[in-house]
Amino acid sequence: MSFDIYTNDLIEDAEKSLSKTFLEVDNICIKNEQKVLKSMIDNNLVDADFNPTDGYGYSDLGRDKIDKIYASIFNTEDALVRFQIPSATSAISLALFSMLLPGDEFISSDGMPYDTLHSIIGINNDPCSLSELGCKFSYVDLLPAKYDASGKLIETEKYDIDKILNKITDKTKLVMFQRSKGYTVRHSFMPHEIGSAIKKIKEKNQNIICMVDNCYGTFVCENEPSDFGADIVIGSLIKNAGGGITDCGAYIVGKKDFIERCSFRLTAPGIGKEVGASLGFNKNILKGLYFAPRSVANAVKTQLLFSKCLECMGYKTYPNSMENRSDIITAIEFGNKEKLENFTTAIQKNSPVNSNLRPIFDDMPGYDSKVIMAAGCFVAGASLELSADAPLKAPYIVYLQGGVNYGMSKMVLANILDKKGV
Ligand SMILES: *Cc1c(COP(=O)(O)O)cnc(C)c1O
Repeated sequence: MSFDIYTNDLIEDAEKSLSKTFLEVDNICIKNEQKVLKSMIDNNLVDADFNPTDGYGYSDLGRDKIDKIYASIFNTEDALVRFQIPSATSAISLALFSMLLPGDEFISSDGMPYDTLHSIIGINNDPCSLSELGCKFSYVDLLPAKYDASGKLIETEKYDIDKILNKITDKTKLVMFQRSKGYTVRHSFMPHEIGSAIKKIKEKNQNIICMVDNCYGTFVCENEPSDFGADIVIGSLIKNAGGGITDCGAYIVGKKDFIERCSFRLTAPGIGKEVGASLGFNKNILKGLYFAPRSVANAVKTQLLFSKCLECMGYKTYPNSMENRSDIITAIEFGNKEKLENFTTAIQKNSPVNSNLRPIFDDMPGYDSKVIMAAGCFVAGASLELSADAPLKAPYIVYLQGGVNYGMSKMVLANILDKKGV
């Protein structure tokens, strides 16, 4: 296998044309690193905080300190960071069930949420869902993006704020926002854009809880949605906030009362954050957090480089290499099945783990068509590591995620280009 990357002109030219953007990414990274380091120092992190607790986990000083460190970084009153929350979807579910009471209404501000949230909301009256509890869900679609006659993007999708405000009734308790486009081609919202929408909602009724799914977005920008008025912000520890190191878990940061409610739902009312043995896991969470801003910057650069090179080869990418980024995922339109297969196979072949496996199109829960996935990751499903998913349907789009190590991502891209894999 050849790793002769420096002979690849396309990559060299792309890096040159991206040099100013890369500097901006580095500057954001440094600001986030400062936040992380300062919060560890200010909260007096000491090696004894890594000591494991077992049983009930009372007086787990390290666990409590992790919550304080997260709260300082996200500029919130409190945080609930637990490896016992198995995924970001579970954290979103936990937060919704903690906030919403029978009869409450809640609104999604950016269209119908992703598939796995449907059974939590209870779109089909699912067992244990919010709809079973009598919580009423509605959504408002985003205003579409605008393109000029040549197909060039002139304006990204926007929140339909008038419609959102019109949907708000006396019973509306919560409005949800998904920062990242996830597995769609829409714009990923910047924290300040989410903030503007939150401001208008709060002007109408300041008691409405604004909750942001921050998955894929954490540390991509200089600020987080909680810096712009979000009451609850949620993310995964096997994505951005775990730096490619943390093995599992999720975080919820926000207002003290809301975090307390989430902790009551997680353990038991009245007990909340007092229990939950860390079993020696504290160091794994903190070490991941320590590396997270740099890993995220590497992923953003990886995404920019892939975007730029594939654009030069004539493919459409969302976002394109000129747009500001708010997450670590790029949709690349390949136009046919063979190219999806070649690209994902090439990513898998060039992964550090399971490089011997060949991905195939198959059925997956939550997808309405067959999907092919490349994920040769150290942590199962950790999409801060370089990985790719592609549903088998027109216009044949690959969703490329992550890239914790920019140098290695560059090698992978060089390998793909050298082999004319695409
Ligand atoms: C990954 C992701 C989720 C779900 O996170 P899991 O940890 O996989 O449950 C939710 N929203 C967005 C935007 C994501 O990228």
